[in-house]
Amino acid sequence: MDRQKNLRDGCGTLGLAYTKDNLETIIHDANEKELSHLDFLNSIVTGEIRYRQQRATERRTKEAGFPYPKSLEDFDLAFCHALSKKQFDQLKELTWIDGPYNLILSGPPGVGKTHLAIGLGYEACANGYKVNYVTMQALIKSLRTAEIDRRAQIKMRRIRASHLLIIDEVGYLPISENEGNLFFQLISDLQEQTAILLTTNKGFEQWTEFLNDAALATAILDRLTFRCDRILMTGKSYRLENRQSFLK
Ligand code: ADP
Ligand code: MG
Repeated sequence: MDRQKNLRDGCGTLGLAYTKDNLETIIHDANEKELSHLDFLNSIVTGEIRYRQQRATERRTKEAGFPYPKSLEDFDLAFCHALSKKQFDQLKELTWIDGPYNLILSGPPGVGKTHLAIGLGYEACANGYKVNYVTMQALIKSLRTAEIDRRAQIKMRRIRASHLLIIDEVGYLPISENEGNLFFQLISDLQEQTAILLTTNKGFEQWTEFLNDAALATAILDRLTFRCDRILMTGKSYRLENRQSFLK
């Protein structure tokens, strides 16, 4: 027993959390399966690596700030006619983030823009990318207050350091001239450094309207769409088609 305690303490000192927490099971399994020394050591190293990867994924997912979980597995492609299976698989491969390429999902409410965006965000976190999710409204607030609010400053620093920035709900609310300029500055800074996934209910021609400035809208779109794919998610609202009610 003392030897086990000793071993557990040693694992703690070396930072082998998986082995430390699963020592009994690991030893039991090795006895049961009569593992060779090589296989036994291998199982420990593999377990430790897998455990660390899981922890890192969890940390990245937490830091991304998703409002709720959504997965690509639950995304029903048959419902979404805007995307072929091949395109969906290409997006899932995430090489566009390395590009970096931007992705604009546009369409009316309920067609799955946010679901697809968050699903891709989770996938990216699981594959080692630093991701940040913000709504346009929250982003504008952080941009506006970054100089005086420490939390906003930290958020902006994270955003600037991310591989993938998801900006959800662009165009729902009009923004002021100053806010538009701050947004333009951010988009310029992130160019060729961070992939931007943006969802919007507005067509490009309507950007002038919510930005209140034709020149600014052109300048922002020019940068956003230079290396970019745009998916027009038209069609019916998934919510309306799959309405769930409680009362019978
Ligand atoms: P949008 O952001 O376009 O307004 P959401 O992504 O919020 O729409 O989708 C609304 C609801 O419908 C969510 O609960 C989402 O999970 C679901 N949904 C939309 N499209 C799909 C789809 N193709 N497969 C599965 N669920 C979907
Ligand atoms: Mg949405």
